[in-house]
Amino acid sequence: MEFTDRSKVRRLPLRGSNEWADICAILDAAFLAHVGFVVDGQPFVIPTLYGRREATLYLHGSAASRMLRQLEQGIAACVTVTLVDGLVLARSAFHHSMNYRSVVAFGTARKIQEESAKEEALRVVSEQVLAGRWNDVRLPTAKELKATSVLSFEMEEASAKVRTGPPKDDAEDYALPIWAGVLPLSLQRGSVIPDPLLTAAVPPPDYVK
Ligand SMILES: Cc1cc2nc3c(=O)[nH]c(=O)nc-3n(C[C@H](O)[C@H](O)[C@H](O)COP(=O)(O)OP(=O)(O)OC[C@H]3O[C@@H](n4cnc5c(N)ncnc54)[C@H](O)[C@@H]3O)c2cc1C
Repeated sequence: MEFTDRSKVRRLPLRGSNEWADICAILDAAFLAHVGFVVDGQPFVIPTLYGRREATLYLHGSAASRMLRQLEQGIAACVTVTLVDGLVLARSAFHHSMNYRSVVAFGTARKIQEESAKEEALRVVSEQVLAGRWNDVRLPTAKELKATSVLSFEMEEASAKVRTGPPKDDAEDYALPIWAGVLPLSLQRGSVIPDPLLTAAVPPPDYVK
């Protein structure tokens, strides 16, 4: 992957990285992205699931999706992935911040036409969201596959940005009697809620426990 100026972190560059391993670690820890693209001068940023394999992010949705119909034409797109790790509470309002891991990737998408490649891409998305689920479900029929658009977004270049650690206050503010520190935040699994229409005696699979 070649990097140009557009993926060089300029604001607080010490938090930035173009290392492929850093980018992949963040992409693999998430499953929700925001896809940015411009149609007739109007920018859109649309949240969507994804699954990564090497430098490809697979996106899927209804064949009627405006986002997918635009992207499949190969227009320039930007995919952002964000993981929020905590609120950084400083002594001053100015130095409040967030702990986070994020990736910004630039590239273009193409539509996957071939049925088996489409199904494999859907498996990659499904496995990214909940590993193990794909093996248990009824797989898509030809009709369902037809109603689903699947795109492969090829990352041309990407950047990662990460903030960790305590607040960084101005030297004179450390003496102030104001609590400061980090309030960690994370996305956590809750307890499963069985579908009321679930046939009796079907136990929850291990991957939701
Ligand atoms: C959860 C979260 C909350 C944030 N809140 C704020 C906020 O309230 N205000 C604020 O100003 N900033 C916030 N940021 C940081 C913000 O994402 C930008 O990094 C920052 O605003 C600098 O923007 P810029 O366009 O000047 O970046 P530049 O450094 O000029 O951007 C150049 C290139 O660096 C890369 N880059 C920039 N930011 C990121 C990023 N976050 N992740 C990966 N690559 C990146 C991109 O490739 C971009 O094209 C937040 C980030 C996260 C993840």
